[in-house]
Amino acid sequence: MIYTFNPGPSAVYPAVRQYLTDAFDDGWLSAPHRSEKVTSLVRQTVTDLKTKLNVPQDYTVLFTGSATECWEILTQSLTPRRSFHLYNGDFGEKWFKYARALRPASTGRSFGLDEAPDVATLPFSPDDTDLVCITQNETSTATQLREGFILNLYNRLGGALLAVDATSSLAGLNLKYIKADIWFGSMQKCFGLPAGLGVLILSPRAVAQAKTLNDRAHYNSLPAALAQMLNFQTNYTPNVLGIYLLSRVLADREPIKAVQQHLIERAEKLYAFFEQATPLTPLITNPETRSTTVIGLRGEPALIEEIKLKAREAGLHLGSGYGPLKSTTVRIANFPAVPDAAFEALVQFFAKEFPG
Ligand SMILES: *Cc1c(COP(=O)(O)O)cnc(C)c1O
Repeated sequence: MIYTFNPGPSAVYPAVRQYLTDAFDDGWLSAPHRSEKVTSLVRQTVTDLKTKLNVPQDYTVLFTGSATECWEILTQSLTPRRSFHLYNGDFGEKWFKYARALRPASTGRSFGLDEAPDVATLPFSPDDTDLVCITQNETSTATQLREGFILNLYNRLGGALLAVDATSSLAGLNLKYIKADIWFGSMQKCFGLPAGLGVLILSPRAVAQAKTLNDRAHYNSLPAALAQMLNFQTNYTPNVLGIYLLSRVLADREPIKAVQQHLIERAEKLYAFFEQATPLTPLITNPETRSTTVIGLRGEPALIEEIKLKAREAGLHLGSGYGPLKSTTVRIANFPAVPDAAFEALVQFFAKEFPG
C-alpha cells in the first residue's frame, strides 16, 4: 500500500477510478458543452458545491482552469488601479508578482511565519485600493490566517473587495464565505481530485463591481464568464471531465462541518505527536498561525533527506518543502482524501524508525 502526503497534487479518492470509468461509459468525454446534458450537470454541480461547502446561495460560482488563472482574472477584471497583497510564502508572493506585472501600482507586505498580522496597521488605503488579497492557507509555509483576522480585515475594507486564495483549504475547512468577496481554489488539494479545474466564488458585491468595470479585453474576462454562467455555460470548452468528477465527489461527501471537524482533530493529534515523539519539530511554533490542512515539519537537511528516503521505502510519500524551505522541511497534507489509515501508518513509521 502506498500513501501520498504530498500537498498538491495530492491523494485522490479511491472512488475516482470508478468515476473515470463511468465518465467514459456514460459519454461525458465527448458530450457537447452547450447540450442540455452538460448544462444540467454544471447546474447540479454548482448547487451541490454550495450545499456541501456552505457557500451562500447569492454567491456566484465560476469554473476556471486553475487557481493561478483566478489570480490573473482578478487583476484583469477587478483591479483597474491597484491591489494590496499580504503574504508569508511562495503562493501569496507569486500572486503579488503577477498582479504587479499587470498593475504596477500594486503593493505588498510580507509577514513572519509565526506572526498573526495586525489588521489595523496593514499599509493600504481603502480609498484607492481595488482589491485586498490574502492567502487563507499558505501551502508553501504551512500557515493559516484565522477567521477572526479575516473578519477584522473585512470590516476595514471600505470600497475595496477582499479576495482570498483558499486553494489548500477550500473543501477542507468550513470557510466563512460571507466575510469576503472572492474565494478560489482548485481540485488537486482538498477536493481529492486530479488537477486542471479551478473554482472562483464571487459575492454579489464582487459580481456588481465586475459588471461596472466591464473588462472585455480577455478570453477569461469576468463579464463574459458571468453572462455565460447564467446558462451554466462557459465561453470556451470547459473541463467537462473535471466538472463531472467534482459532481461525483460532492454527491458522495459529508457536509463541510463534519469534514472540518475530522481534519481539526487529526491536525491536533499530528502536531502533538511531532512535538513530542520524533526528532522533527513543527515548522510553525505559534499554534495560532499553524495550518490545519498542511502540516510543516522542520529538521536538519541530512535528517530530512534520510526521513524522506526511508518513508518512501515504507510506501509513505512525504511532501517536500517548498521554495527556500525545500531542504529543511517536509510537508504533510491533512486533506480529506488522505485516509486515517495513512496517518496511522505514518505515526507507526516514525515511532519505529525515528523515535524522539
Ligand atoms: C496549489 C496552490 C495554488 C496553485 O494552484 P493551481 O491550480 O496549480 O493554479 C495557488 N495558491 C495556493 C495557496 C496553492 O496551494
